[in-house]
Amino acid sequence: MLELKGKKVLVVGLGKSGLAAALFLRHKGAQVTVSDVRSAESLAKDIPALLEEGIMVEAGGHGLLTFRRQDLIVVSPGVPLDTPELVQVRKFGLPIIGELELAARFLKGRILAITGSNGKTTTTALAGEILKEGGLPTLVGGNIGVPVVSLIEESTDATWSVLEVSSFQLESTEQFRPAIAVILNITPDHLDRHGSFENYARAKERIFAAQQASDCVVLNADNARAAEAAARSVAPVHWFSLELRVRQGAWIQDGYVVYRQAPDREIEQIIPLSKIPLKGEHNVENVLAAVCAARLAGVPAEPIRAAIERFQAVEHRLEYVATVQGVEFYNDSKATNVDATAKALAAFSSGIHLILGGKDKGSDYTVLTQLLRERVRAVYTIGSAAAKIESQLRGVVSIRSCETLSRAVEAAAASAHPGEVVLLAPACSSFDQFESYEHRGRVFKELVSQKASGKIWQNV
Ligand code: ADP
Repeated sequence: MLELKGKKVLVVGLGKSGLAAALFLRHKGAQVTVSDVRSAESLAKDIPALLEEGIMVEAGGHGLLTFRRQDLIVVSPGVPLDTPELVQVRKFGLPIIGELELAARFLKGRILAITGSNGKTTTTALAGEILKEGGLPTLVGGNIGVPVVSLIEESTDATWSVLEVSSFQLESTEQFRPAIAVILNITPDHLDRHGSFENYARAKERIFAAQQASDCVVLNADNARAAEAAARSVAPVHWFSLELRVRQGAWIQDGYVVYRQAPDREIEQIIPLSKIPLKGEHNVENVLAAVCAARLAGVPAEPIRAAIERFQAVEHRLEYVATVQGVEFYNDSKATNVDATAKALAAFSSGIHLILGGKDKGSDYTVLTQLLRERVRAVYTIGSAAAKIESQLRGVVSIRSCETLSRAVEAAAASAHPGEVVLLAPACSSFDQFESYEHRGRVFKELVSQKASGKIWQNV
């Protein structure tokens, strides 16, 4: 185990997980410094607690000397590994790890880790519920909002830690070894940070890099890159598929989600499709992945069915908001890439009024062309990506340039007929106009509830 007592450790990036990591390291007896490029004012709410614990804080930029004086550097997932100071100290051979790797060295019990371009949070939350229903001592954390280090204290040898892990977190792992590693799908996202699709896909595949033959990998048989990933895995691969019957894993048969542990084992019926409360085929994929992982963790079919039947959409993930004058409003603010938007469109057959835009991530919106033609009555653009979206989709669909979310909601609500849908699935990140996708989703829901209560529109 990593010896931390008396060691000089620098935590780079003071987000939620950086803060948790700094406090954990301090409690383990390390001499901790935190460095963040944000100003002291914007870090103000966390600084007093850190100083009180005897943690030093460097705000408003990184000093190279601060980086050099350390025994270990722990990097937050939001900090790119090619940050100049990190590149410099890497040359001196200083160990650099992420919060996930740090946590994994101390976490007791077994890990069920879930990654993918889309569906991580939904599948992690669902798998967590299923394991709990199956009576397994379960902790849920990671990218889902609970830093993995904060699970350490509660973990025991019997614990299953169900972790949502992002490509950013996986980039800096070494010994992170899940007993079950799930890759839901790999589609282009975050190319602005990873540089190329290949780098991004390789980062995701690090989820199984430290696995051994006694572990398991769960892959999506419908995903183009999965066969390549499978070829690189040391652990046996279990599959899930919406389209095919797989050798071992989960698929759809006669209207049921079914599962088979191995090619010579019986096929078990888990749950009828009609009993899955989540909307959209993509959520059936998430269910298939969670079923596979849960069966591998030893949960029988009955508690799996019970937990799925009870499960409700996670907030901002194709979340039903309200029906106003016969028009349904859905909040999919978490659709921050084109693939997630495509899945949201596929969940409704027609009559969609789609709010699109925000901060562009280098995406190709023409991928949506066919779905837009088939199902969308009009697109309402917002944010800084609007001009790019409009130029790529001109002639495909009717486009209204709205600039702000409130104008877009107003325009969409005014045009939509009863039986139609207003859908926020913006295919972009939110940082041009909002603090986060959660903030954007909450504003959307607030606008809809004002509409529902007949209040006058503000800020239009
Ligand atoms: P993540 O944590 O990977 O971002 P979420 O569960 O938060 O995944 O969902 C993110 C977005 O992707 C939402 O818009 C959701 O509706 C959509 N989504 C969920 N599951 C899938 C999937 N399996 N494939 C594609 N899109 C999905």
